[in-house]
Amino acid sequence: MSIDPWGSEIIEDYEKLFVEFGLKRISEEIRSNLKHLSFERNIVIGHRDFEKVYDHIISRRPFINMTGIATSGELHFGHKVIIDIFKFFKDSGGRNYFAICDIDAYVSRPDSRIPSLEVAKKYAVENLSHALALGLDEKDVYVQSRKERRYYEFAFEVSKKITESTFRAIYGHLDLGKIAANLLQYADILHPQLPEYEGKMPSITVIAAEQDPHLRAVRDLATRLPYDFEPPSALIIVHLSGLKAGKKMSKSDPETCVFLGDPPKVAAGKIMNAFTGGQPTVAEQKKLGGNPNICKIYEFLKFNYPFNVKLRELYEDCIAGRIICGECKLLTAEFVKEFLENHHEKLKTAVEIAKRIVYGEV
Ligand code: SF4
Repeated sequence: MSIDPWGSEIIEDYEKLFVEFGLKRISEEIRSNLKHLSFERNIVIGHRDFEKVYDHIISRRPFINMTGIATSGELHFGHKVIIDIFKFFKDSGGRNYFAICDIDAYVSRPDSRIPSLEVAKKYAVENLSHALALGLDEKDVYVQSRKERRYYEFAFEVSKKITESTFRAIYGHLDLGKIAANLLQYADILHPQLPEYEGKMPSITVIAAEQDPHLRAVRDLATRLPYDFEPPSALIIVHLSGLKAGKKMSKSDPETCVFLGDPPKVAAGKIMNAFTGGQPTVAEQKKLGGNPNICKIYEFLKFNYPFNVKLRELYEDCIAGRIICGECKLLTAEFVKEFLENHHEKLKTAVEIAKRIVYGEV
């Protein structure tokens, strides 16, 4: 099994990641002590070296909270969990670095997707506006293309410590754009530990499973650069899948996901058309119950619905046939509609702040 960090397929068999790539499972202690739905609901599935960050959280010592997004398209509800976990670690005592990766988005993707840096910056404004409206603090954000000189100096230093053969062994190919993007990603994750920033301390970055090759590379680099770095830790999260049967969210089929910019009624309509784990008829549903484990409505709620007790009830009512899919869809559509109405109100002020951060004072 190989993993392509730039590929678009879902990693179906997460189990192999534990066996072949040495990811560790989240312990029961961590799951019960870190009160966030991503831990409680198994959205965080594994980690690399997270225990040392956990120790710092529990003993109230500082740690680095570093995450980012590549600005290669519109943000959808699947991205929201990254921002939610970042906020959780900030509230848990993190020193915060949220990267808006506009250069990465442009140089590592084909022109058919991101034709220019300017397009990546437009997405940067869009993505950052949503992130700010979701509660990200502008003080914690930086944009790669506007980052200070020391960061770029450091990215070039990093380039000395990764060879062509190492790069090929990890990623399976060489591509100058992707190499450039990688150097910036390594700098993103490691630079907060430079003496000019926070200095040496544990750091946590939240990634999807296909980003794990980057993490393995950066952990190795941490030990070979001429600084006293703590190898960075990572949490691995699962993807929110698309709304149709078995499908990943797809940019070419907007019906497969709910974008944070969707008009609330459009978003509610997508929810009403989603694939469920229900039975073909109401009578069968009442007799046999539904299957929330394959249901896109339930999955959407698992990632986004804040009420644990109500979610558990819904799961049990589904299995017992006490609820039918129409009711469940209506509840979810209403939740999404209300969420987006509030979110779009906050977006009005966030857009101007995002433009200032991406383009500078104008
Ligand atoms: Fe999904 Fe709800 Fe239908 Fe159960 S009742 S299958 S959770 S939509």
